[in-house]
Order: sequence, then C-alpha cells, then structure tokens
Amino acid sequence: KECFRACNEYNGKKYKNKKLSALQKINEKARHRIIGITIETRPDYINIIEIKKLRNFGVTRVELGAQSLNNIVLKKNLRGHGINETILATKLLKNAGFKICYHMMPNLPGSNLEKDEKMFTELFNNPDFQPDFLKIYPCVVVKEAPLYKIWLKGKYHPYSDRQLINLLVKIKQKIPIWCRIIRIYRDIPSNKIIAGSKISNLRQIIVQELKKQEKKCVCIRCREVRGKLLSKDKLKIFRQDYLASNGKEVFLTFEDKARSYLYSLLRLRLSKENPELAFPILKNAAIMREIHTYGETIGFNQKIKTSPQHRSLGKELIKASEKIALSEGFKKMAVIAGVGSRNYYRMLGYRLKNTYMIKNL
Ligand SMILES: [Zn+2]
Repeated sequence: KECFRACNEYNGKKYKNKKLSALQKINEKARHRIIGITIETRPDYINIIEIKKLRNFGVTRVELGAQSLNNIVLKKNLRGHGINETILATKLLKNAGFKICYHMMPNLPGSNLEKDEKMFTELFNNPDFQPDFLKIYPCVVVKEAPLYKIWLKGKYHPYSDRQLINLLVKIKQKIPIWCRIIRIYRDIPSNKIIAGSKISNLRQIIVQELKKQEKKCVCIRCREVRGKLLSKDKLKIFRQDYLASNGKEVFLTFEDKARSYLYSLLRLRLSKENPELAFPILKNAAIMREIHTYGETIGFNQKIKTSPQHRSLGKELIKASEKIALSEGFKKMAVIAGVGSRNYYRMLGYRLKNTYMIKNL
C-alpha cells in the first residue's frame, strides 16, 4: 500500500488515510506508475487465499524459494517444503497468470555435482516446473547459519571455484529460450563467507568460459537487445510452444532472423483444465502472463527515444496472441497487468475485472 502511496505522492499531493484500492486507482494515471510488483515467498505458503491477497496487492510476479528438486536434500536442509509444494504452487500461480521465478541453490548438503546438474535438466524437461526466471545462489557457509556447525565437523564440503564454474557452464547450456537467468550468486559480503565461492563476478567468468568453449547460453537475459536497434523489417515473430503445469505455454518473440537479439516477448498461457482457480473470471480464458519490450525505458511524460516502429512491437505480439487464443478455442483473454499498465490495455479494448484486464475475443 505504501508503495502506491509513495509513487502517487511524487506529484506533491498527499494521499493519507486512503484505502489500497483508491491508491491503486490513482496510480493508474499517476506520473510514476507501478507496472509490476514482485514478492518472494516459500512454495508451501501459496494457496488460493494467498493468491487472492497477492492480486489485491497488485503483485504480478512471485519468486519461490524452491532451492532443490530433491526431497531428501530439502528435508536434510529443513526447508519445510517438498517438491510437491513447489509443483502445486507453480500450477496455482501460473493458472492465475503470475510470472514465476525459482530460487535454486546448488551445492546444498546432500547434493553433489552430478545431482545438481540433473536438477537443472529436470527443471526444464519436466512440465511441472518450467520457471520463467531463475536466480541461482550457490550455497555458502556463513557463521550465523546451522550449516556452519556441520562444516566445522567436516561433514560439508563446498565445491571448489573450478568445480562450481564448470557446473554453472553446464547449467547455462540447459536453459531454454523462454527462461531468464536474473542472477547467479547471492550478494553476501565476501568477508562473511566462511567457506564456498567468494567470486563476485561469477556471471562474467561463466560468460567468458562459455565463449572459450564456443558454447552459448540462449536464455532471455543473454539475448535481450541493448542499444542495437534494427528496423522492423529485419525482425521476425517466433513462436515456441511448451507444456507447463497441465497447460500449454506459447512464447512469442520479436527477434532478428539469426535469433541473436531479442526485442520483445509475450507469454501466453492456454489451459482449459484449471479447476482450482482463484478468480472465476479466468475460467476458459487465455492468459497473457508477460509482455515485455527491451531497449526502451517507458516514460509516460518523456519522449521515448526508440523509433515508433520499435514501440509497436508489444502491440503486435498482443494482436498475434489474441489470434492464437481464438484459434485454440478461447473466447476470452485476460492480462495480469500491473496497476500502472491498466490504461495501456484499456486502449486495446480490455476492461478491468477482478484485478485482471479482460477482453472478449
Ligand atoms: Zn543466459
């Protein structure tokens, strides 16, 4: 609530004692708009009631502390959840249109290099997982954690830097084009790390290592365009379908023909069997979970420097996804739009219903 108030008050006015819904309404047209909110939570905290709450707060992305896909490892590390909780949370959230990020932790006690590598293979081979984003935090020993005592007894051995780099280089090659690695490495100050990797520029080292081996990571982050703007006739729409949590995901992108640079992306979820829905309005609806165009900063009051052609990429992907939804038998489209983006969808014929932007196709 305070996030919305802070943004709204940038114009100098005060909005004390206003309800959350009123503050959100004001934010729809404010100078500083909130186009998405991310929260971090545990997989076992997610249920229908929680999802309703998150939507009322305006949350659009959820980061799940999945950590491992191995129940024995999870139990050993007292995570309080098993993979079933991760699978269920992923499904409930995707059916409600949320974008999902997993926090994964290689090198946990009970795991090893081979198991960790397998875990990342399973992440994208098994439709039950398929996170949209990944944060990879290799386990390290800090004095405050219970792991410190285990390490003191000699019962835990962190990977060497070389082992860790080799593992991450292998992991990078398993990432599909529809996932974005947001971060590798936790920002714990290195003087706090008693054992484990202290390399702070791990990502850079891995990118160099991949180059040396003439291999590539094709994740979103490694391909998103920065500055290199091509005219639109050089770009092409690509469509990639994959299965996820009892539904079909369509990943639509604008890329250059060689697929080296990603300009715009859209995640469309087509799921007809979703009995456990947080919102009845989503019944039989196709859901746009993400629309993102790179190489531009969206300012409502300042002029955008990119060409108007470039700016319309997102709109074209939306049109294309509406066509796909129709052809797959969906008569309704829902968007999990951030509060500040609602007006954008209104211009495209969408109307606000139960926190979602809805359009009959
Ligand atoms: Zn990558």
